[in-house]
Amino acid sequence: MKITQDFFTCNDCYNTGKTIEVKGLMLHSTAAPGVKAAEWKARWNKSYAKGETARQACVHAFVDDKDVIQALPWNHEGWHAGKGSKGSANQTHIGVELCEPKGAVYNKNGTAFAKYDVKALTPYFEKVYQNAVALFAFLCKEYNLNPRTDIICHKEGWRKGIACGHADVEHWFPLHGKSMDDFREDTAAALAALRAADTAASATQPRYRVQVGAFADRGKAQTLLARLRAAGFEGYIRT
Ligand SMILES: [Zn+2]
Repeated sequence: MKITQDFFTCNDCYNTGKTIEVKGLMLHSTAAPGVKAAEWKARWNKSYAKGETARQACVHAFVDDKDVIQALPWNHEGWHAGKGSKGSANQTHIGVELCEPKGAVYNKNGTAFAKYDVKALTPYFEKVYQNAVALFAFLCKEYNLNPRTDIICHKEGWRKGIACGHADVEHWFPLHGKSMDDFREDTAAALAALRAADTAASATQPRYRVQVGAFADRGKAQTLLARLRAAGFEGYIRT
């Protein structure tokens, strides 16, 4: 999973310059089947303030089966959870949009899929899901978050009263047999793998040792070690 930074510098949200303390991650999906990550820049990198036909919305990243595009700095306040007090998750959560697959068709209300060929769309789903897991694991590591308690989807945010009333991603994931609990568990496993890789990498780093004395008399060695310890240093005697 490679993250491409391509900030939406013309979006009004980007230009507020407001930052947040990241306390959680919110998973969304776009409700625009077939529109891939790179295409969202053309749609959302516009300024309402300048009179352009722009949506007053912005998220931190778009994810599809191939790309992860970062649209805002991670600690920037996003506009992904709704306006005003209904969208208070904007002040605490990084928002990530998953691009929905081409071929899916919504019902008239836009609340659920009217047509969705599960078998044909499974290969796409598996890739976008894995990219999302990898990104969320990376963000949990970066911000020291617990995947089991600090990740929610938009619909769960609505239930908690911190996001407006959208269905994502609960209208989509279950079609592929995945729940948000599955997503949290898969992210926890990916985070554990990232941390294990870090530990393994640090174990193979070269170590530079500092020697401070060499004596024929063991007593002198002990005296020096005591002085080192008194000064706050760790040390040991070897022959
Ligand atoms: Zn959403």
